[in-house]
Amino acid sequence: MPEGEAKGFGGDASVADALAELLSNKQRKQTVAVGVGDTLVDLSTRLDSLGQEKIELRPVLISSAEGLDILRHSTAHLMAKAVLDLYGPKVKVAIGPAIEDGFYYDFERETPFTPEDFESIEAKMQETVKGRVPFTRKVVSKAEAIALFEEKGEQYKVELLKEIEGDTVSLYQLGDFVDLCRGPHVPNSSWLQVFKLIKVAGAYWRGDEHNQMLQRLYGTAFDDKKRLKKYLNDLEEAKKRDHRKLGKELGLFTISDQVGPGLILWQPKGALLRRLIEDYWKEEHYRHDYELLYTPHIAKLDLWKTSGHLDFYSENMYSSMAIDDVQYQLKPMNCPFHIAIYKSQLRSYREFPLRWCELGTVYRYERTGVLHGLLRVRGFTQDDAHIFCRPDQLEEEIFNILDLNLNILATFGFDQYDIYLSTRPDKYVGSEAHWQKATDALEQALKKKGLAYQIDPGEGVFYGPKIDIKIKDVLGRSWQCSTIQVDFNLPERFEVNYIGEDGREHQPIMIHRALMGSLERFIGVLIENYAGTFPVWLSPVQARIMNITDAQADYCENIYQELRRSGVRIEKDLRNEKLNYKIREAQLAKVPYMLVIGDREAESGTVTVRERSGKNLPPMSVKDFAAKIKEECTAALG
Ligand SMILES: [Zn+2]
Ligand SMILES: [Zn+2]
Repeated sequence: MPEGEAKGFGGDASVADALAELLSNKQRKQTVAVGVGDTLVDLSTRLDSLGQEKIELRPVLISSAEGLDILRHSTAHLMAKAVLDLYGPKVKVAIGPAIEDGFYYDFERETPFTPEDFESIEAKMQETVKGRVPFTRKVVSKAEAIALFEEKGEQYKVELLKEIEGDTVSLYQLGDFVDLCRGPHVPNSSWLQVFKLIKVAGAYWRGDEHNQMLQRLYGTAFDDKKRLKKYLNDLEEAKKRDHRKLGKELGLFTISDQVGPGLILWQPKGALLRRLIEDYWKEEHYRHDYELLYTPHIAKLDLWKTSGHLDFYSENMYSSMAIDDVQYQLKPMNCPFHIAIYKSQLRSYREFPLRWCELGTVYRYERTGVLHGLLRVRGFTQDDAHIFCRPDQLEEEIFNILDLNLNILATFGFDQYDIYLSTRPDKYVGSEAHWQKATDALEQALKKKGLAYQIDPGEGVFYGPKIDIKIKDVLGRSWQCSTIQVDFNLPERFEVNYIGEDGREHQPIMIHRALMGSLERFIGVLIENYAGTFPVWLSPVQARIMNITDAQADYCENIYQELRRSGVRIEKDLRNEKLNYKIREAQLAKVPYMLVIGDREAESGTVTVRERSGKNLPPMSVKDFAAKIKEECTAALG
């Protein structure tokens, strides 16, 4: 054992036999598999089959991430068995892995699965659970396995088998259901008590739209009921917060089939929300000594040859177009434009660092199947910036970027994140010494900022190391957001230079960075994080005026004009409707303040303020209300 305890075993002793001697009963009941070196094996594995005289066994607890993976993948087998038991041999099985938070299994079946089917499948699964059916592993020759699955008509398994290298494969049997699988699995079905089928979706075999469309049944499984319950609650909460649903209800954005998938159309309120973010972003960058650039959406195809995008990035780019017999290309990135601005004049070390930012709209190809609301789109606006500096300035620049980055995220309520430092991959450009220096600079900056981070070995881009920041929303979900990348490649390709102190030409370091990532995606995350209930400074509409009767209409009109002039984002609802009805509509629109106007307010020149929570504030003057809004915005923006 890793703790040092050791025992000798002989004959046909299995891992389970060893654990029975080495672990307490309680520990043993929670151990679902063991790690031997880098691999996980079943408890039923014979010790002598592991082929070592001394074997260190690392118990994998069912509640751990590895344990839950095994549990969920086993539940996928359990579900496939139930589906075949219920719907017979006409159903064909494809693959069924564990995924984050659960598992799925792909089936070929003519009739679509319905929610009623879910109940029958779950009931059938529970039957097997009660039967304590063992998962048995068998190693057979590949030919034998192919024959077996051919006989069952399971052509997907046969296709997979034909591509597997090696002569033997392992099969797992649960009752009469046999699956091609590497394992490991739980010892028997009684481990699989806590599960739930979640949804069904179409999925092409191997993700290729030329292949057969399959039905993907998603489910989840946990080691205890409480964890499942919490997960299902979170899922419900996430559904309520779906930015596509809220985006429609709140009139923020739309996507039109006539315009094209993955292309976002901002409606007035969404456009206002976006402008508020853009204005804040620009001001914050100005305060941090950045200069703003604007660049076009197309450039000559040759530019993208020089940049290397045509060689390394073409699958994400759209076809080129001819203008006066010269080929042009829609931009997938902003970097070459900023380099062109850099190269428009001779640069000296004295100018450094140059910090240039742009809200640059780029276009990248994504398959239709992966497009998703604001989160995966084909045209989006990066909050991009490029910093040109000397090597000795790199660490400080990274520190400054991190500072600005975390400031901006905090303003939007994000103060939980995971930070990754990605180092040199196998294929790379630039010298090893440069990589080392740059990686050290990134690491030093993180340390100086007092930030916890994880190293992602070999996950850097081919042109330089990078820092990625994943933010956590209120539901604890992670979103890839900021990225800071050092680049040795583009300055080389474009022969970017500056005159150093020594009067000679040197190559500057180029940093690419995006803090929010893209405005589309970031706003999608914001909508879900706030559940559409934006703080006052971000609310497209901060207050809505509503009269009790027509008698106050003129007064309402006056204060509407006054508030608008003083910069409050205001709306009016002067319809001849019951007040309660107007209030309910304002609440659904998630407007922070309702100004309720009756005779008393009109006579005294005041407004009665109702918060969206339902709380009423004492009557105040229109001026005081405008001041209150201004104060709240200032406080939020620090
Ligand atoms: Zn399996
Ligand atoms: Zn760039």
